[in-house]
Parts: sequence; C-alpha cells; structure tokens
Amino acid sequence: MAFRKIGVVGAGTMGNGIAQAFAQAGFEVVMSDVAQAALDRAVNTISGSYDRLIKKEKMTAEQKAAALARIQTATDLAALKDSDLIIEAATENLDLKLKIFRQLDELARADAVIASNTSSISITKLAASTKRPDKVIGMHFFNPVPLMALVELIRGLQTSDATYAAVEEVSKAVGKSPVQVRNSPGFVVNRMLCPMINEAIFALGEGLATAAQIDEAMKLGANHPIGPLALCDMIGLDVQLAVMNVLFDGFKDPKYRSAPLLVEMVEAGYLGRKTGRGFFTYA
Ligand code: NAD
Repeated sequence: MAFRKIGVVGAGTMGNGIAQAFAQAGFEVVMSDVAQAALDRAVNTISGSYDRLIKKEKMTAEQKAAALARIQTATDLAALKDSDLIIEAATENLDLKLKIFRQLDELARADAVIASNTSSISITKLAASTKRPDKVIGMHFFNPVPLMALVELIRGLQTSDATYAAVEEVSKAVGKSPVQVRNSPGFVVNRMLCPMINEAIFALGEGLATAAQIDEAMKLGANHPIGPLALCDMIGLDVQLAVMNVLFDGFKDPKYRSAPLLVEMVEAGYLGRKTGRGFFTYA
C-alpha cells in the first residue's frame, strides 16, 4: 500500500491543517466539505500559512504555488473516489460520521484505507459500519496540525497490520511522529491531559489559588509551556467538558467526573477564547 492521493473530508480547523501538511509533503489532495464557504476559508488559511513559511524562509514562492496546485476542493464526496487514503475530519458527531463512513465505503476503491481524525468516537464502531473494517484506522492529529509533531494512530479491533504499517509510513512521510494506541476512550493524550485540566478547575473551585496562580505554578513547577486553565480556554470549555463526559461514560469511573465549576461555566456560555471569556478574559 503506497499512498499518493489523499482525500480529506471536512475543511474545518483540522481538515485544512491536514490538507496543508499533505500537499506540502508532495501528496495530491482532494479536500471536501458540504459547505463551499468552508472550502474557500480553508484554501485562504492554507495560503496564509504557506506565506508565513515563506517569510521564515522555510518555503519558496514556487513551492507554495506547487503545493496549492496539488489541492483540489469539492462539495461532493464522490470526488474522493480515486483516493488511496481518505482522512475523515468532519464535525464530531457519531451519526454524521457513521453516515460519512458508509458513503465512503460505497464510493472508495476496495483497497483504499479510510481513517478518522475523531477525538472521541470508537474506531472499532466506525470500522464495523463498513465492509472493509480491516482498512479503517484512527489518525488523531493535534491542533494546529502543521506545527504539532504527534499523530496518535488508533487501532480498532479489526485494523490489520498492513493498514497500520502503511498509515505509519505515510504519517512519517508528512513529518509526523506516530504513536500506536489501542482504541479506548480519550486514547492517550486526552486521557491524561483533560483530567489534569479538570483537576486544575477543581483546585480553582475549591479556592486553592487564583486562576493566574494555578497556571503560574504549573508553568514554573512542571515546566509546562502554558498553564492548564489558559490551555482549557484555548481548547474550549465545552470541548473539555465533552471529553470528560466521554471518559466518564466510557470507563464508568468517578475519577473522570467533571469539576462542577466547569459544568457551570459552560452553562453560562463562558467557553474560553472563542467567547472572549473563560478562566481569563480576552479582548
Ligand atoms: P470544524 O467544526 O472546524 O470543522 C468540521 C467541518 O466538517 C466543517 O467545515 C463542516 O462543514 C464539515 N462537515 C460537516 N458535515 C460534513 C459532511 N457530511 N461532509 C463533509 N464535510 C462536513 O471541526 P474540527 O475542529 O476541524 O474537528 C474535526 C474533527 O477533528 C472532529 O472529529 C474533532 O473531534 C477532531 N479533532 C479536533 C481537534 C481540535 O483541536 N479542533 C483536535 C483533534 C481532533
């Protein structure tokens, strides 16, 4: 299995980053989204991102033009029918992803691999909705995709060794460092990162220290580049809550219960940077 043509489903935050990384590494990319506006925004974002690389002398204008020329866009999933590897990065919703997987299974070549960038949905469940469960895998990229080195490769119960090996190879070809993870709620990074953030919110709710003091303590004491509460503001408090709920529901273990303050802040609409207010305020 050598992948040359990459299909990307969803042109949002993650989809456009994935398309950018693959096009830059020399792959042909077809990026699809139901919304033409999302595709237009994605191409603009990618172009701006390449411009920043040109400024830093990490890319030439010719390389930018060639990379952009390798990206096609489409509002119809059928445009992905010749892809060798399809990476689904559509909205995080089980029914939507099951529908997309069934459509992709119908239209993609029999030997094509279908991956999902899902943060929380079972790869085993997505694989079972297709007639090629051995060729389904999780490729969990991190935001922003062009800058973050890690990709967690999630093996569903049915994922074959050949599929894993091919996806590991292509991940390295786009400059990522893959880590193999078994299908399980939160995989590895969110399983540890989100409870750590949750604990910071418990500490804040209990009045142990102020938000600024908690973040300062973790930056200086644990050498974290950003404090847990500022990080939560970046991720979005609603997203943090959703991940905690996935861990709690998946493991049925009270150690994953959400901090009450997190639940209340989400109820208030204080979702972090995107609403201008979370644990800190943003202009
Ligand atoms: P987003 O909301 O920015 O983008 C989702 C895109 O999917 C939208 O442009 C939407 O129009 C499109 N879409 C919806 N239905 C579609 C369909 N039927 N066909 C094609 N496109 C469709 O979301 P995002 O943050 O990019 O997240 C995408 C996936 O990546 C989710 O599964 C999420 O859990 C995962 N993820 C997100 C992050 C993150 O930090 N944002 C990190 C890792 C993984």
